[in-house]
Amino acid sequence: MQFIDLEAQQRRVRNRIEENIGAVLDHGKYIMGPEIAELEQRLGEYVGVKNVICCASGTDALLMGLMAYGVKPGDAVFTTPFTFIATAEVIRLLGATPVFADIDPKTCNIDPGALEAEIIGLETRHPNLTPRGIIPVDLFGLPADYGEINRIARTHGLFVMEDAAQSFGAKYHGQKACGLGDCACTSFFPAKPLGCYGDGGAIFTDNGNLAQWLQSIRIHGQGKNKYDNIRIGLNGRMDTLQAAILLAKFSIFPEEVDLRQEVALRYTAALEGSGLIPPTVPPNLKSVWAQYSVLAEDGDHRNRLQARLKDAGIPTAIYYPKPLHLQEAFSGLGYEKGSFPVSEACAARIFSLPMHPYLDQTDQDRIIDVLISNP
Ligand SMILES: *Cc1c(COP(=O)(O)O)cnc(C)c1O
Repeated sequence: MQFIDLEAQQRRVRNRIEENIGAVLDHGKYIMGPEIAELEQRLGEYVGVKNVICCASGTDALLMGLMAYGVKPGDAVFTTPFTFIATAEVIRLLGATPVFADIDPKTCNIDPGALEAEIIGLETRHPNLTPRGIIPVDLFGLPADYGEINRIARTHGLFVMEDAAQSFGAKYHGQKACGLGDCACTSFFPAKPLGCYGDGGAIFTDNGNLAQWLQSIRIHGQGKNKYDNIRIGLNGRMDTLQAAILLAKFSIFPEEVDLRQEVALRYTAALEGSGLIPPTVPPNLKSVWAQYSVLAEDGDHRNRLQARLKDAGIPTAIYYPKPLHLQEAFSGLGYEKGSFPVSEACAARIFSLPMHPYLDQTDQDRIIDVLISNP
């Protein structure tokens, strides 16, 4: 059994993928070929956002977004410590300071109350830092609480950059993920809900000025042409081949989102009363289930369950075993054990079950049987 079955997906679209790759080999425009603009158009229509800038990875999307906002040393950017390293890494890479706010224990997403407390407390704790923006993360495919986050951002004059690396395809009160902040970044890493066959990412925004900056930053800060450079940028382009592959996979993506939903509902129904806490989805939100993560009673309970599943040939994973404020890379920020108790408790208890659109009922029943049996 596989944790994510990309082969089952490939069997469905292999012909279309080969056709699309063949088209690129025929036209030979490997850099910024016509597939890039076509993909940007399709993604924008799907999400309902005016501008899409495809780029080389989710990490580059986040970096380019912060570059477009001019984030620099002395700036504070607020985010969650319970996420993948890239979210906060890009803040540090630009010399700015990540300021963490703890998560809501139900959703594992940033807690708006804790966020606002960090913003208000910044002046006392870090009088030399200028508050600039917020990067909420839609963890495991579930959108963060944007109603509250956007209100807080407006009150304090901050931008909101959605880290939608795991949530492309999700929904918040009728609006698709990637359209929930001032701009949004997603990833097409193979294991994400919509993945390519290498690295890829995209930035979404309704702000036309920001989009122009991003297009320039993507190609070495270019101005009127390739050898006119008006700002510092990078080589952040998506490969034409990856766009061609994504166009083929995107044709079945909406159906895959529904299949993921069915798998998640079956897990949640089966886990009721099992002693494991299934993920919470607040009303009017739809997760795209990048991961199906459950909370064990404690670390020992988690170890026992993971071992039992492993013995039965069922893979599991831990996202994330160590919150970012305890990572050595961020040791200079002055945090310590106990700084964010909810994130730390979550990291000690959480683990993820196999989750993908092609997980059939037989395999899923087997996972559930092993999980809720009590030897
Ligand atoms: C995967 C991921 C990223 C980085 O995306 P890459 O395409 O791997 O660079 C950023 N943030 C989160 C929350 C992610 O899960």
